[in-house]
Amino acid sequence: MSKNTAKGQIGVTTENIFPVIKQFLYSDHEIFLRELVANAVDATQKMKALGSLGEFKGELGDLKVRIELDPKKKILKVTDRGIGMTADEVDRFINQIAFSSAGEFLEKYKDKAGSIIGHFGLGFYSAFMVSKKVSIDSLSWKEDAEAVKWTCDGSPEYEMGPSDHKDRGTVITLWLDDDSSEFAQKEKIGELLSKYCKFMPVPIVFGKEQEWKDGKYVDTDKDKIINNIEPLWAKAPGDLKDEDYKKFYRELYPMNEEPLFYIHLNVDYPFNLTGILYFPKIKERMAIDRNKISLYCNQMFVTDHVDNIVPDFMTLLHGVIDSPDIPLNVSRSYLQSDANVKKISTYITRKVADRLEEIFKEQRTDLEAKWDNLKLFIEYGMLSDEKFCERALKFALVKNTDGKFFSLEEYRKAIETAQTDKDKKVVYLYATDTEAQYPFIEEAKNKGYDVLLMDCELDSHYVNLLERKIENTRFARVDSDSVERLIPKEERIKLEMSEADRYDLENMFKAVLPEGNDYYVEGDNLGENEAPILITRNEFMRRYREMSALGGGMNFYGEMPESYNITVNMENPLVAKVLAAKTEEVAPQAELPAEAPENASEEEKKAARDAREEVRKAHRTDVEAFARGNEILHQVTDLALLANGMLKGKALADFIERSRKVITDAYLK
Ligand code: ADP
Repeated sequence: MSKNTAKGQIGVTTENIFPVIKQFLYSDHEIFLRELVANAVDATQKMKALGSLGEFKGELGDLKVRIELDPKKKILKVTDRGIGMTADEVDRFINQIAFSSAGEFLEKYKDKAGSIIGHFGLGFYSAFMVSKKVSIDSLSWKEDAEAVKWTCDGSPEYEMGPSDHKDRGTVITLWLDDDSSEFAQKEKIGELLSKYCKFMPVPIVFGKEQEWKDGKYVDTDKDKIINNIEPLWAKAPGDLKDEDYKKFYRELYPMNEEPLFYIHLNVDYPFNLTGILYFPKIKERMAIDRNKISLYCNQMFVTDHVDNIVPDFMTLLHGVIDSPDIPLNVSRSYLQSDANVKKISTYITRKVADRLEEIFKEQRTDLEAKWDNLKLFIEYGMLSDEKFCERALKFALVKNTDGKFFSLEEYRKAIETAQTDKDKKVVYLYATDTEAQYPFIEEAKNKGYDVLLMDCELDSHYVNLLERKIENTRFARVDSDSVERLIPKEERIKLEMSEADRYDLENMFKAVLPEGNDYYVEGDNLGENEAPILITRNEFMRRYREMSALGGGMNFYGEMPESYNITVNMENPLVAKVLAAKTEEVAPQAELPAEAPENASEEEKKAARDAREEVRKAHRTDVEAFARGNEILHQVTDLALLANGMLKGKALADFIERSRKVITDAYLK
């Protein structure tokens, strides 16, 4: 190549590549800085390697990468003291090769710019996204090398010639575009360096350290280094203490609460991966902070969207993953099917499970203390990842309503004897709200049963999962049936009742219960001293409803009215009194008119049906009128509603009023 300034065409297939670059990577303009600094860091590390291999015998000298900004002239410079480039190399690396891949890439994706990944590095040429002119001044480390200058103003034409650059290494100078003037602000560059270069492996200087002097901050002579060249994940786990991990977490997320636990990932075969993951406190689904895992490639920040690299539940974790083996120049959807990414994902899942099992075995007290903040993560993992679930069944904890923790195996042993039903199923009783379900919890405990607390948002799904995973198991919420029937030990004989009596009983209660729900009313003998009425909710109906509310997709259940079982204790004297009053006050149903004969006309059949219905309806109206006027019936029903937290509004006011009258009658008359 001649020493005189020469002009040439950059080897690009598309004529006007620069406007394309500018538009194409619009949303990600800021990555230009990362690309330039990464090149500078690369060249510096190569220089270091040449030094340590003995190929370069001179002084390496200061190897810092320097970023300089002139906000007025809108000039940004990235300077390194790396290996530099000869004129030949600039020609090969910049003029010819740089675009061959980008050109193909743009060609392939030109119709679907929206689907393009944001993290495709155009390398050096990304500088043109923000600049009207870019120059390279470079002096190669090689003996007798001469400094070279390359300039390009954004057209496919470049100029190349000698440079007066004296120092080994490269200076990239950007004349920033007017519409990219945000990058001419010191704060913006500082922010980008901190986002993309915070952990790059060579010291990067931007500006000077400041000190407080005469009432303001002023620059000192000391260079300000903006990165930590040896981040914690790159160190050997054996050399680190708990405190180091906590400190690093604070460095990453200064505003966050202390994490619960951490894992240090470190593998070099069959792929290369290091990283530190933290388990944050997670209390509620809504408060979850996703996208807190940052992906690095050799200490260069790539993205904080790792959702195609780790299983979904893992995105709840915080921290850093660093791997040169995750392909970055492919679309995000392609990532998922990449074999290496799959291996990495499996590895991370296994490591997380290993770590939790270790904590379970060695730090049980600590695990129990932190369980409430960890369980949403674990339950979500178990529900969404089969492999993780198999592992977690060993270390997942359950907590009972007294706050005592058990592993699933321990819990089964603890309840097996008392809580096995007639079908040999072990019945796990649970409550979702210790306040609201207090009466039911007490009943169960008095009977010698244990009650778990399942108050996590995912628990209705989780309960289903455990029923599938643990053999011969059934879960029942404490208020899903009377305590006698929650864990039936023997076949219960149904109470004999005539159809007419059952019908009357149902109509009586429906007349005084809140409207809008479905009620299934039945009589049972629960004992003279037991409550007159019990309102329970069928376990499965309730669970499916909850799951559909959580977005389980079972809308059929979600749209059905709430349904309740009303158990009337026929042995209770108050119930007996109401029924006696009904027999006295309400005439039995009149005899039904005969049905129409087989050969009657459709009209005659309908008339006969209507006539029968008329009689039933008349009786039902009588029963309902009786029920509404019966104070005892109202009172006992309202008490049952009250025990379930279902007495509200006017019904509640009426109950209070009635109760006052009852007390007055009892004590003052
Ligand atoms: P990539 O870095 O992905 O190879 P670039 O377009 O960023 O693509 O750079 C092309 C080549 O130019 C690099 O591989 C490197 O050989 C050379 N290069 C770029 N910047 C520098 C630099 N600051 N010092 C030395 N060589 C450089």
